[in-house]
Amino acid sequence: MIFFSLELSAFLTSRIAVPKVNLFVWRAVNERIPTAVALAERGVHLEDTRCGACGVADETASHLLASCVFARAVWWQVFVWCKIPIPASFDTLSQILSHCCSLDVDKKKKQILYAICLMTVWCIWMHRNNKLFNGKNNSVSMVVEEIKTGTFWWMNRRRKRTDISLEDWNSFSGFNFT
Ligand SMILES: [Zn+2]
Repeated sequence: MIFFSLELSAFLTSRIAVPKVNLFVWRAVNERIPTAVALAERGVHLEDTRCGACGVADETASHLLASCVFARAVWWQVFVWCKIPIPASFDTLSQILSHCCSLDVDKKKKQILYAICLMTVWCIWMHRNNKLFNGKNNSVSMVVEEIKTGTFWWMNRRRKRTDISLEDWNSFSGFNFT
């Protein structure tokens, strides 16, 4: 089923995020990324369809990017960094994204928050690929650092210049969502 939420669609067309990440997250929400389960359903023979991060559940997009213990830990740190409420549920990616959409913040901050969420999804996916294909196993905090740095450069790219330093960006001083 295609998830068509008007609010969520705003996430999926972020002007701050690069197009390939916008597209990737749209596909992830709709379980259309090449996870182990998706590949097996397409007839690819795999020894194991379990998630490489926890080794417990099957690797669907929703599990890998939302409900997995690794993904939850990343999202948790991102929410703490942004000083926004933690979602009531991490069961699916669309639940997390919808939670961020529903926050009562001004349009400019929400655009930035959209971009941070998209970068979070992208960095969790990159972490998965790096571990699977390159044997590189970054920690939760390393992934969170990548999210902070990656969104900072997106902001710079968008604005051509930035009025906030990377140091301030990382600590979010003067930029509170609550
Ligand atoms: Zn997992």
